[in-house]
Amino acid sequence: MLELEQAVEKILASIPAPKSETIPLREAHGRVVAEKILAAIDLPPFDNSAVDGYAVRAQDVASASAQHPVTLQLAGRVAAGEHFDGQLSPGQCIRIFTGSPVPPGADAVVMQEDTKAEASRSNEVQILDSAKPWENIRFHGEDVKHGTLIAEPGTRLGAAHIGLLAATGVGQVTVNRRPTVALLATGSELREPLSETPSTSSASSSTLAPGHIFESNRAALTPLIATTGAIPKIFPTVPDTAEATRAALARAFAECDLVITCGGVSVGEMDFVKSAFEELGGQLDFWKVAIKPGRPFVFGRLGKKFLFGLPGNPISAFVTFLLLTRPALLRWQGAANISLPTSFGTLAEPFSNPGDRRHFVRVTMDRNGQVHSAGTQASHILSSLALANGLIDLPPKTTLALGTTAKVLRWE
Ligand code: AMP
Ligand code: MG
Repeated sequence: MLELEQAVEKILASIPAPKSETIPLREAHGRVVAEKILAAIDLPPFDNSAVDGYAVRAQDVASASAQHPVTLQLAGRVAAGEHFDGQLSPGQCIRIFTGSPVPPGADAVVMQEDTKAEASRSNEVQILDSAKPWENIRFHGEDVKHGTLIAEPGTRLGAAHIGLLAATGVGQVTVNRRPTVALLATGSELREPLSETPSTSSASSSTLAPGHIFESNRAALTPLIATTGAIPKIFPTVPDTAEATRAALARAFAECDLVITCGGVSVGEMDFVKSAFEELGGQLDFWKVAIKPGRPFVFGRLGKKFLFGLPGNPISAFVTFLLLTRPALLRWQGAANISLPTSFGTLAEPFSNPGDRRHFVRVTMDRNGQVHSAGTQASHILSSLALANGLIDLPPKTTLALGTTAKVLRWE
């Protein structure tokens, strides 16, 4: 039986180096930067005013106060997008707005609230407060200097990165390609969820024939795949026959870069994924990973493509996706950070794992950081997963006391 970290390492070692493409910045949210991006300009690009007011020479207004205003001659106006051509002379000021370039000769801006302009004397302004040199001026290059690194390879672009890149004039970025990921669910018992909302009255219990269940793994895994940046592609459910499994895998491998299956990977006589994959020429690693839920897990390679065979039980599929497949989807895109987001909380009750495998326990962490069990932990119980907002990694044969600080692994 493999430890989780060994299994992840084996998977990551097989993932090829990413390939890049250049795309418009506006489509780059969540994409992984492929090449260093250096700032092409200073930010701000020019000295500019932090307020609406009057650009002045600080020495001219050094004595100004409400009791003893200094009167300056209004020499011009610089609206947003404009600039002042001349030079500010002693005794002059210029009307200026937030973000407008500071006129040459000015070394401070007095905010509008500290000035008085009289309609009858339209070319004069009274300054009611002194200004220190460079007061209310934002300096060119104080945010970003031309030539500095603003995005590193491996960074997944968030809204803030995108804002910074746009501010320096970047309109397109070279990012790594995203894998298309086939999502297959195997099991003759699986039925598609209904296209109409099922009635809760007992008369309509005919929605499922005896022995059938609604398929749920593809539904839950699709958003998990999408949030890695990979492109999920949902395939029809696959009945438990060798022929159907082979045909479905062949199609999935032809159309996608990576294939995720769920179900059909244990040792039951109806479990066809492994044999079908090998018949297609795939090389298989079948592991029991020492985690609960989710022990049986298949990883395989077919040419340059990969199979991730998840167990069928919904919680096992969910957890093995997060722990063993998600890192690979991120690495395929060259992401530097492939870990799940984490938060730290305090156990609000004791947690016990009497077993000999690590248990990834569904928990609910509240606003105050108190961590509670999300309910029944069996691998088919979806309601506790829906209540949970994280997992804690509970080592084998361990009890963690109430009050212990715990790392909570999150997926959203
Ligand atoms: P298997 O791994 O195929 O033996 O499936 C284990 C359990 O998970 C069985 O109870 C299946 O009915 C259930 N199961 C398998 N695949 C799915 C699925 N896609 N959606 C919901 N339940 C599933
Ligand atoms: Mg099955």
